[in-house]
Amino acid sequence: MNTADSERLSSILSGLGFSESKNADDANIVVLNSCVVRQSAEDKVTGMLTSLKSLKQRSEDTIVALMGCMVGPKTKALETKFPYVDVFMKPQEYEPLINLIESQMGIDTTGCLSNLQPVKPHISTHVPIIHGCDEFCSFCIIPYRRGRQVSREINDIVDEITLLTKRGVKEVTLLGQTVDAYGHDLASSTDLSELLQSVNRIDKLERIRFLTSHPIYMSNKIIDSIANLSKVCEHILLPFQAGADSVLKNMRRGYTKQEYINLVNKIRSQVPNVSMSTDVIVGFPGETQADFESTMDILEQIKFDKVHMAAYSPRPGTIAHRTMDDDVDLTEKRKRLKLVEQLQEKISKEINASLIGQCFDILVEGKHRNRWFGRTRTNKLVYFDSEDDMAGNVVKAHIYESSPWSLNGHVQDSEPDAIRGEQHGY
Ligand code: SF4
Repeated sequence: MNTADSERLSSILSGLGFSESKNADDANIVVLNSCVVRQSAEDKVTGMLTSLKSLKQRSEDTIVALMGCMVGPKTKALETKFPYVDVFMKPQEYEPLINLIESQMGIDTTGCLSNLQPVKPHISTHVPIIHGCDEFCSFCIIPYRRGRQVSREINDIVDEITLLTKRGVKEVTLLGQTVDAYGHDLASSTDLSELLQSVNRIDKLERIRFLTSHPIYMSNKIIDSIANLSKVCEHILLPFQAGADSVLKNMRRGYTKQEYINLVNKIRSQVPNVSMSTDVIVGFPGETQADFESTMDILEQIKFDKVHMAAYSPRPGTIAHRTMDDDVDLTEKRKRLKLVEQLQEKISKEINASLIGQCFDILVEGKHRNRWFGRTRTNKLVYFDSEDDMAGNVVKAHIYESSPWSLNGHVQDSEPDAIRGEQHGY
């Protein structure tokens, strides 16, 4: 979500004539887009803010802005701690910076906020479809910082993606904190499956992804859309967070372990070859050894393709911080995290090794360390070598090597799309 917000701010600034600078020292404007979902992320932002102090002393005309989830009810405290920061902006609140640019630099900014689409979007681009979240999971700060759920209208989203395809975008990832709750707050009572059908009709678009899903909103209609719409990719990020029902209840997640497992089984029966990712927190208040083993059990049973894992860290302002003791000590949290890491590495290794010898369509996104990379429909990262310019093409890759994190492939069909299209008469 932060990446999408940064892209939008970048498009506003490029509309005003600014271009990207390689480093902060050469910049007229430095914007730090902050994330506070975990303590480690917040610490990183604080460290970078501290390092910007000397830059501001050297060049006092440089505008330093702090944007994102760190800016909230305690902005006054931030102003005191970081007096050299010129402007503080909540998520998606671009106006204070634009106003400062106008007053300090004398630039006419009229109308610059009316079009927020990225000007030079990446082949695979994020499109926020919901802002905020209504769930108030007890450990999470997001609803307090990004506000309540507000869905965008379908027409607005379809128009934006159509324009993005004209600028070269081949794949979109529809974003929401609870993306499968899309539309529930709209008067038109639509839902994510209807949005997916509309986006699926956009001509030049190759692929559609969406994240993050919440188990309680993953409806049969949405599962049908993944199974039946040609552009919707077979990959779902469906956080389960913890294996024990008592912990899930304290987290206010709204489902039990068995309900989660049943949902995954239903998805797998209706969407063959679907890949599943999840989020897990270990060491939540009250998590016993038996509770943790229940988390390990769910990982063993389901065998996710990818797991985003974290040790619980209390976020001031959340329900858990206010009402629960952070009673699992740090050493134990680290131990549990390590066990999850080791188990998941073994599972990912086995899953990826089973793909050796198979062939997949890869949407090529770019180059990294001189090798082309792209992803399968199931979100597997594939590297391959080619002398041709492959960016934006869908190519067939034959997998010959794997690791827990990525695959290596040989490209079988390296013809650019245009040539392939001519040969097939379309
Ligand atoms: S669903 Fe829960 S974890 Fe996700 S953003 Fe909303 S409150 Fe946070």
